[in-house]
Formats: sequence, C-alpha cells, structure tokens
Amino acid sequence: MINRYIKKLVSYGIETGLLKTEDKIYATNQLLEILRLNEYEEPEKEYTDIDLEEVLKAICNYAFEQKIIDDNGTATRDLFETKLMNVLLPRPSEVIHKFQTCYKDSPKKATDYFYQFSQDSNYIRRYRVSKDIKWVANTRYGDLDITINLSKPEKDPKAIAAAKNAKQGGYPKCLLCKENEGYAGRINHPARQNHRIIPIQINNSQWGFQYSPYVYYNEHCIIFNGEHIPMKVEKTTFKKLFDFIKLFPHYFIGSNADLPIVGGSILSHDHFQGGNYEFAMAKAPMEQYY
Ligand SMILES: [Zn+2]
Repeated sequence: MINRYIKKLVSYGIETGLLKTEDKIYATNQLLEILRLNEYEEPEKEYTDIDLEEVLKAICNYAFEQKIIDDNGTATRDLFETKLMNVLLPRPSEVIHKFQTCYKDSPKKATDYFYQFSQDSNYIRRYRVSKDIKWVANTRYGDLDITINLSKPEKDPKAIAAAKNAKQGGYPKCLLCKENEGYAGRINHPARQNHRIIPIQINNSQWGFQYSPYVYYNEHCIIFNGEHIPMKVEKTTFKKLFDFIKLFPHYFIGSNADLPIVGGSILSHDHFQGGNYEFAMAKAPMEQYY
C-alpha cells in the first residue's frame, strides 16, 4: 500500500516539473529513508493527475500507524508532510536561477513561474486555500470584497499545550526572517523546508520576495527586509515601495501602518505586502481631492 503512495508522490514531482526524471530513484530512496523502509517494489501502474492532498494524507496516516510520528494532530502532520515535500524540491539556488532566467524575458514570466512553484511545492496548500469563502458585497459605498480565510490551520489543543512548554527559541527570530528557508519547524513554528526566497534589491539593500502561504488574494506576496529590524513608516518607505514597483510593474505593493491597532501582524520585521489584485478601494471613483 505504502509503495503505491511513494510512487504517486514521486510521479507528482515529475508531473509538476519539481523533479526531473533522472531524479526519480534518488527521490524515492529519500522517501524510503524518511519512512524507515529498507526495501521498495515499484508498482507497475503509472499514475497521472495525482491528488496531492490524498497522497500526503495517506502517507501521514501510515507514519502515525508505524509510530514514525508520535502524534496525529494537524501541527505534527503538517511538519511531517513538509519534510516529505522537500524531497521533491530543487535547492534555493536553482529556483533563484530559474526565476532570474524567466525575469530576463519578463517580470510577469518570473512571477508566474514562482507562484506556480510555490503552490506545486505545497508551501501554499492549495487544498486549504480552496476552502476560503469569498464574495463581493454590493454596498452604498460600492462593491466590497469579503473573504473568510480558512487556510490558516486551526491550532490543535496538543500543539497549544506543547507550545506553552516549549523553550522559546530565538531561531528563526520571526516568521518573516530569511532563516526560515529550509527550516524543519517545530510544534510552535511551521516547517519551511519547501519554502524558497527570491533575493531582490530594494532601497540599496538586500530584501526577500516570497508569497504568503495563506494567499488572501491573487498572488499575495510578501517583500521583507533581509535583516530582522522593526517596521517603521518613514521617508525611505516610499523609496522602498517604488523600487519594488519598478522591478514588478504588474504588481501593487502596500503596507499596514507600523501600529498594532490597524492590524499589522509582524511589526518586529520590516515588510510589505503586494500582489496581482485590484482592491475595491482602487476601483472606487474619486470623490474629493485634497
Ligand atoms: Zn524576522
């Protein structure tokens, strides 16, 4: 049974282009190691149109039955499935190289590639994002976009209890730090082995470009400072915003203020959010000039 799911996962890697056919045996062996198996008999059947959620679910169930993972809660399963996905993925340098090659053709080609990659790698969990509820509400102020986001996993009680007792590590310093790339995670910090960051130059300094794993709107991206320094809205903020738009003219960029009251979630790390989406406010007609 497990052999079938190993083959399906490797076939998914090849089907999506994450893996090359030359890497098939290597990747299979890496999965065997994680699943503590010494032997493998490849099923004869060839698989296409693979349902990733189903495959990961089946392998996680197997891992729990075999006591490879000691808990069956969402937090532990998410850590384990991310470890599995990492087997299928290229190293950061390869992703950066591909992004830069596409960028030479056009910025849009580069972001199309990276957005697709970020979903195929399961960094953006499509099967969770698809559960989000979205609609447009017609109001006296114009059309408003309403979304109910269901893709951030509900914390399971065991994870909350474990997090309470877990030592507060200082690594990575926060969820936005570049040190998350490839990090295995722990019960109170998500696994990021399947995370890749594109380095970009903003305001003459090193920044990172990535997508939000919870995509609140189309191609929801995050642009973050290479250093863990606090958010501060100041004169250079405008230079940073315009530098980004010059690099990616088909995207918008914006930010919450540097105040907790307006919903800024990670104020300890300088960052912006952007994407390929037109918000209701941008579509609204101008009422008054100042
Ligand atoms: Zn940080």
